[in-house]
Amino acid sequence: MDLDDLQHYVSYRDRVSTVDEKGGRNWVYALKPHGAFYNKRILLTILYLMVFFGLPFIKVNGMPFIQFNIPEGKFILFSKIFWPQDFYIFAIAMITFVIFIALFTVIYGRLFCGWVCPQTIFMEMIFRPIEWLIEGNPAEQKQLNNGKWSFKKFGKKSLKHLIFLFISFVIANTFLAYIFGVSKLYKIIEEPISNHVALFFGVIVFTLLFYLVFAFVREIVCTTICPYGRLQGVLFDQDTMLVAYDYKRGEERGKFKKNVERTSGDCIDCHQCVNVCPTGIDIRNGTQLDCINCTACIDVCDFMMEKVNLPKGLIRYASENGIAQGKKLSFTPKIKAFTALLAILLCVLTALLITRKQIDAHITRTGGQLYQELPDNKISNLYNAKIINKTNKDIPVEMKLEGINGEVKLIGKSELHLKEETVNEVTFFIILDKSIVKEHSKKIVVGLYKNGEKIGTVKTKFLGPFI
Ligand code: SF4
Ligand code: SF4
Repeated sequence: MDLDDLQHYVSYRDRVSTVDEKGGRNWVYALKPHGAFYNKRILLTILYLMVFFGLPFIKVNGMPFIQFNIPEGKFILFSKIFWPQDFYIFAIAMITFVIFIALFTVIYGRLFCGWVCPQTIFMEMIFRPIEWLIEGNPAEQKQLNNGKWSFKKFGKKSLKHLIFLFISFVIANTFLAYIFGVSKLYKIIEEPISNHVALFFGVIVFTLLFYLVFAFVREIVCTTICPYGRLQGVLFDQDTMLVAYDYKRGEERGKFKKNVERTSGDCIDCHQCVNVCPTGIDIRNGTQLDCINCTACIDVCDFMMEKVNLPKGLIRYASENGIAQGKKLSFTPKIKAFTALLAILLCVLTALLITRKQIDAHITRTGGQLYQELPDNKISNLYNAKIINKTNKDIPVEMKLEGINGEVKLIGKSELHLKEETVNEVTFFIILDKSIVKEHSKKIVVGLYKNGEKIGTVKTKFLGPFI
């Protein structure tokens, strides 16, 4: 172990890899990965980008497929509007989400960070490759950064930052489209900016924010800022799946020497796993919170192993127990049970979302009124109803009594049309024959029908005389 190694070895637990001994920034110049995992990540990135940039444009029946309009408290999921009345679904979704995150992380570690997190996808698969393309490999980048300002340096830096700004602008617009919808963003282009100052300001702020994150803050988001990253320490256990170095097989490290019989472990101490790491860590030091499970070190180590004719998998997906006991990663009963629980939770949530009613009605008897006796031995009660039309279309609705004969008589209108995305208020009488009111407070059910099809029922009470 040379002096550099020794210093790194003793200091890696004391400070994050991106901070030097004086508290300054250790800029990470990561090597471009290549290999089986990286190829899969490229494919996933293409799919991911199609989904991320495409979703805000998808509409079903004129309704955005997805929208989280936080300022107006309007949420659209699968083209269904969710109202404050659907809060219970939101609460269940939040509980499911928290349990899901916890269980998923216990089993699969930071799999999400490496494969799905937008920060990793944009940083490692978009921004960093552009940097490699413009500024070259890590050595060339370092030389460029440390060199004096020249026309070449100015050109490269300007080009890179202009592209970074442009991509950040596109991401910011897409991000805001998830909140306000694409049609509102189009208006900034079509109408004078003075009509949409707040939104325009939002685009500028988020563009700068994304630019700062991807151009400068970078891996610090994962190693220091992200709360999910910080949670790993309490969620991991000895069986959690990680990107791990097989120290049993790799140690003692020793340089590869051609045509010399190997007496040390399989790690040839080539440092490639460190050079390729986007968070600047040495995975050989063991499990570290800074590892985002990007798999770059697996690819590069496999490549090196192949080159020196040693078996691949010195760095691989494994658990700490797996490495210690020399076992392959397998689906233990605990992993199976947790995975089944995760699947059940997701199924319950999906069922709740799919079966959620488009119409929500609440009927209450008008306060301060008992009942009115009518000619022909009939009794009436006065009601107020709040009927929420959660769709983006007006709906003609008819109210009928369920299971008993009687009449529903609207006040002030002959037909009931529920206006789109509105809480519709309606007042009406329910009229029953005295003969069927055999108790002072009778439970009744009002059915809501759209073109003859029942779309909901509401329970209420009908008051009659004391018998
Ligand atoms: S890439 Fe593999 S062989 Fe090279 S230093 Fe890392 S663990 Fe050792
Ligand atoms: S240690 Fe390996 S998996 Fe973890 S962040 Fe670095 S390169 Fe990615």
